[in-house]
Amino acid sequence: MRKTRFLAGVGIVAAGLLGLTACNSGTPGAAPGASEGSSDEELFEIASDVSIEGSPTFDRIQDRGGVVVGVKEDQPGLGFLDVTTGERTGFDVDIARWIAGSLGYGEDDITFQPIASANREQAIVNGDIDYYVGTYSITDSRKEQIDFAGPYFVTGQGLLVAEDSDITGEADLSADTNVCSVTGSTPIQNIKSNFPGVPTTEFDVYSACVEALLNGQVDAVTTDQAILIGYAALYEGELKVVGEPFSEERYGVGLEKGDDALREHINTLFTDGGETWQAIFDKNLGASGITVDQPAVDAY
Ligand code: GLU
Repeated sequence: MRKTRFLAGVGIVAAGLLGLTACNSGTPGAAPGASEGSSDEELFEIASDVSIEGSPTFDRIQDRGGVVVGVKEDQPGLGFLDVTTGERTGFDVDIARWIAGSLGYGEDDITFQPIASANREQAIVNGDIDYYVGTYSITDSRKEQIDFAGPYFVTGQGLLVAEDSDITGEADLSADTNVCSVTGSTPIQNIKSNFPGVPTTEFDVYSACVEALLNGQVDAVTTDQAILIGYAALYEGELKVVGEPFSEERYGVGLEKGDDALREHINTLFTDGGETWQAIFDKNLGASGITVDQPAVDAY
């Protein structure tokens, strides 16, 4: 029952975050995100006659005749699946579509694969997915197994608490505050390493942490503020984001290690595609209150 309420509610925040395009859809009662804005053609073109010399991932995509992308699906505004309509929306999902378009593949040729934070590197190493776009922070330890294109977004770790909580920032975390985050994520690692003595609860996905917070089982949820802002909007009046970001999370596109040709292709897309990046940001996060400029693409 709880789950049903949650999923139905996520649609509402998705509508809020997508307010700009939803207003333009001219389709009263249309599902969140089910507007013209979700059509690829408005944001970017589907490339033709693409060739990427020396990319094993691109060779595999061409042999298959389609792209398999790893995503999140419970993070409103970033990576979200509306289970009633089957529609996927969010900044990350549109970045994934933009990349697919640059490779010559449109919506009908994309298979989205939900993969939890803890399973991302393995899915890429196994070749289960061609690339991953889902609030995936670039870190040195992850780079031992995979490569990243980007960064394409920057945010920082924050805290989500109940509206009546006394917690105002990370300085208030203590032995009496149970903090929930996701297994295999950078925020849970940060709490364990730098906030010793603060009890933690872990789940596979952030929506489970939010449920635990609503039920009073934990005192805070911690992850990237960009993610938490979506949940705070969903539960306005019940949950709030507090404090300043206390880490820097630079989002990259997860790729097979050593596929320099594909990494170069995506980095060039990001570098040359500032207008498209902005249009994707405005469509998905423009109404959220998040203000972020497109970061410069790093070479490494
Ligand atoms: N950006 C952080 C990470 O990559 C937290 C969000 C997530 O788990 O996807 O671990």
